[in-house]
Amino acid sequence: MTRQTLDTRAVHGGREDLAAMGLHVAPLDFSTSYPAHDSRAEAARLDAFATGEIPDGRPIYGRLGNTTVARFETAIADLEGCAAAVAFSSGMAALSACLLASVAQGRRNVVAVRPLYGTSDHLLSSGLLGTTVTWSSVDELSEAIRPDTGLVIAETPANPTLVEYDIRRLAEAAAGVPLLVDNTFATPILQRPAEHGAGAVLHSATKFLGGHGDVMGGVVTCGEGFARAIRQIRIVTGAIMHPFAGYMLLRGLATLPVRVRRAAATAADLAQRLAAHPAVTRVSYPALEPDRPIGQMQGGGSLVSFEVGGDAHAVIASSKLITPAVSLGGVDTLIQHPASLTHRIVADDERRHSGISDRLLRLSVGLEDPNDLWRDLDRSLSTIY
Ligand code: PLP
Repeated sequence: MTRQTLDTRAVHGGREDLAAMGLHVAPLDFSTSYPAHDSRAEAARLDAFATGEIPDGRPIYGRLGNTTVARFETAIADLEGCAAAVAFSSGMAALSACLLASVAQGRRNVVAVRPLYGTSDHLLSSGLLGTTVTWSSVDELSEAIRPDTGLVIAETPANPTLVEYDIRRLAEAAAGVPLLVDNTFATPILQRPAEHGAGAVLHSATKFLGGHGDVMGGVVTCGEGFARAIRQIRIVTGAIMHPFAGYMLLRGLATLPVRVRRAAATAADLAQRLAAHPAVTRVSYPALEPDRPIGQMQGGGSLVSFEVGGDAHAVIASSKLITPAVSLGGVDTLIQHPASLTHRIVADDERRHSGISDRLLRLSVGLEDPNDLWRDLDRSLSTIY
């Protein structure tokens, strides 16, 4: 049978049983506990949950699982081409679970490639969860791996410089150590890291998967072995996604392909116009780069980063249609200054070394008309030249 395309699966994933239940829309299950008269059988099921398995039947207790969240997990695992997905209350909770699972297995070292989202960088640099970090380039990665390395972490395209890394090269250099790729910026519509050798794929679901700036969540898609390890952590840390977030994210996935492609087309247009603007000294947009990893990400995505020749803060202060705010991946266009906000927590010299200058601005392009967006950008940029 021909496999349905991503567009179809985004609409129908996690909903396969609804028609048989006589429902059109996924039910929102707010239960914190699930009644059962056979407590012997429940004891056996609880033992299974404790090992990170998902036994058949109801979740027993809301910290172990949730039926609405499980629908979102089924749908996103399918889109990423992974066997399993585990959903968390935020992207940082998802990353924390991966680190804690690695520490629990006695592997404290993480090898990571910069830049990463500022708080992810801080989590690794600070060692707050008991990990150590070896920052590495892709070229030096295989030498950076140690016997106690439990994870290799990279973002591609990376936040906020939009530099792309070759996932296949990273996976080869990781030499059997699980490679965790943060796919928040590309989404499975444009790039599926597991197809290129990533063992686990992380999303801040707060961004494109939700798509409307009104839900927080995180998710890791991976094989069943890694999923069991991070489900165990999710149970003891209580970091499970809220049922309402699961509902909103399942709904968000249905329009993900349409939103991502439309926003990316506008971003490509704006990136070209920015590159020709006299106030702009440099534009980072994956589709404009000459040496891209082959066959990895379709198009350039909907983030554009650019450096200005004058005061970056003045550009933000003058924007009217474009919202000056952190976060990304929503229906409306946002602009922010990474050195002040998303990457402020990274030490100044490390930040600059990763290519995040004080003149860099990051634009998350939404679904507005490209000409309206350009008029606003052009007017804001005109204040600095
Ligand atoms: N990964 C990336 C690439 C991000 O941009 C973010 C947040 O901005 C995160 C992870 C963390 O996700 P959350 O804010 O949902 O905890």
